[in-house]
Amino acid sequence: MEITGLADLLDLQDVDLAIDRLLHQRQTIPELAAFQEITARLELVEAEHDRLSTELRSLERDADKAEGELELIEIKLKESETRLYAGGMSGRETEQKRLEVQSLRGQQGTMEERVLGVLDRLDPLREQVGILTRDKEGLVEEARRLEQLISAAWQDIDGQIARLEAAKMGIAAPIPSGLVKLYDQLRRTKEGIAVGRLDGGVCGGCHLALSRPEQIEAAEWDPPRCIHCMRILVL
Ligand SMILES: [Zn+2]
Repeated sequence: MEITGLADLLDLQDVDLAIDRLLHQRQTIPELAAFQEITARLELVEAEHDRLSTELRSLERDADKAEGELELIEIKLKESETRLYAGGMSGRETEQKRLEVQSLRGQQGTMEERVLGVLDRLDPLREQVGILTRDKEGLVEEARRLEQLISAAWQDIDGQIARLEAAKMGIAAPIPSGLVKLYDQLRRTKEGIAVGRLDGGVCGGCHLALSRPEQIEAAEWDPPRCIHCMRILVL
């Protein structure tokens, strides 16, 4: 009865190790790494997009402001010119108007340069923001595609795990609960391998040889334990 239980532990361990492998596979599917990389890139692109969008909005405000100021100068210039050409002013007034027109033309030139300068920066910035918007959309789409693949792969793996869990229950049922408890404890502390078969005098857990006297000593334990690694030994 006890020997049957021990052999069943080996079967149980095979299933548990298969589950461990599937859990590992679940976390290491290539699409998951790709998804994490895409997400990291998306974060960078979004930050750059936000930064340049803010810069663009500020520049657009500058352009509006400069264009508004230019418009005001042009209105004033037109008024002053009209007044000057209409004549009927004293010599002193005419000279003042002439100087005013000259000054406004100077202001007009300066402001036109400012508007052009802002507009020159605006176009490439708009283009950059456009490129980043498209990059962002592409990355979001790729992330969504990967998410679907990950979800499908996980569903498949989870199905396999569920079938193994069911098989495990069947295998564990006839094994004494105390033995299962010991097995679970050992699996936690011994890298998932709680039980090994003694094969040709060698422990299947730690792969160390046991001499005849050591084998006798191992068999004195209940259940038998490897004297090197203390794993359950199936003799
Ligand atoms: Zn051992």
